[in-house]
Amino acid sequence: MKKKSAWEKLTSAEIEETQKIGEKYKDFLSKVKTEWETIRYAENLLQTKAHKIFKLKEKIIAVAIKGSLPLREGLRIIAAHVDTPRIDLKVHPLYEKHSIALFETHYYGGIKKYQWLNIPLSLHGKIVKESGEIIEWKIGEEKGDPVFVIPDLLPHLASKQMEKKASEFIEGEKLDIVVGNSPIEEEKKEGEEKEKVKAKILEILKERYGIEEEDFVSSDIEAVPAYEAQDIGFDKSMVGGYGQDDRICAFAGMEAFLRAENPKHAILLILADKEEIGSVGISGLDSNILRRWIIELLEEWEGNSSNIAIEDTLWNSKAISADVHAAVNPLFEEVHEIKNAAFLSYGIAISRFTGVKGKAGGSEADAEYTAWIRRLFNENNVPWQAAELGKVDGGGGGTVAKFLARLGIEVVDCGPPLLSMHSPFEISSKVDLFSAIKGYKVFFES
Ligand code: MN
Ligand code: MN
Repeated sequence: MKKKSAWEKLTSAEIEETQKIGEKYKDFLSKVKTEWETIRYAENLLQTKAHKIFKLKEKIIAVAIKGSLPLREGLRIIAAHVDTPRIDLKVHPLYEKHSIALFETHYYGGIKKYQWLNIPLSLHGKIVKESGEIIEWKIGEEKGDPVFVIPDLLPHLASKQMEKKASEFIEGEKLDIVVGNSPIEEEKKEGEEKEKVKAKILEILKERYGIEEEDFVSSDIEAVPAYEAQDIGFDKSMVGGYGQDDRICAFAGMEAFLRAENPKHAILLILADKEEIGSVGISGLDSNILRRWIIELLEEWEGNSSNIAIEDTLWNSKAISADVHAAVNPLFEEVHEIKNAAFLSYGIAISRFTGVKGKAGGSEADAEYTAWIRRLFNENNVPWQAAELGKVDGGGGGTVAKFLARLGIEVVDCGPPLLSMHSPFEISSKVDLFSAIKGYKVFFES
């Protein structure tokens, strides 16, 4: 099948719009780097349009608009995730070695650890005191803020390191972040203080933020790249930035939600947590939360949440699992079977299944539902492509799709392809973002 770049499919007005959306998208990526920041952004942006907002602790949000049909006719659901690969702090993070203070970390999600060395990191956090008081951090994003860094080894002394496999090049235990290098003043020392640099950091944390060392136990602190999203290429056709898996789909979902007009079916946009580690926990979609929220909608909007009304609503619903796909990287094309691969700038990628080896662990969309989506996109001139992630037996992945399917909801994965997914500077195409917004909008209105 002959594929075509989406740039060649859009009208000139649409091409102009890709640049405008690109600006808004870069701003979003630069400002919003954690789950809670994304959820606040979504709530703020969508609250006037939404008829109902569900939220759990700024970790997962769902926004709904009433349709002209009753809920039992099913909803149109788009689910993206807002957690991203990153470096989390351990519960006892702070230590000192050779007069350098560091934070112990534990990485989150599937990363190539060496990519996180010697890049500027910012610290975004919520520190919850015993009293319940929350202290927030966003350090390293403003001009004048310090940044933090995981220091790699100099090449002069790296002959042994350079022989290691990439997976062992830097061990997870060595991914520690430099946070200070000056000793506490003599007069402030409490007794015989041996770790003067650590003491100094603790003093700053107490004075500036009111934080005691034990408070780290009940904190979520995430180290993420400190830089902003930027245009890539002479033609500015691409966006480089952190967290595009899956914030590009979250952003596209929000834009589609804002643009959706007169939906027949009630529409629901879900921005979920914990996808990168298996959708676990109460804020992941492998929980009962979606079912619960749909029951609440039935009760609140129609006063009927009988078991059969719930089941009808779920089984008549259609969903898009909005998640990114792997674009063919010209430097590594050998990992793909090119006839069935996705290309950057070729539009939103329909992926009927995720999973590994013999399609294990994914939920495969049936041919009927895939035909329905294909027709929807074709009728509305949405640039799309259909693809598998990589070569059979080459690896694999998972999304939230199977957790929606489990409830009886028809679902297929549809999202823009990325280059360098899960890296600290992922690459997307502005025309694929545009295609996703357009595709999600017509889905909401279907
Ligand atoms: Mn993803
Ligand atoms: Mn991912």
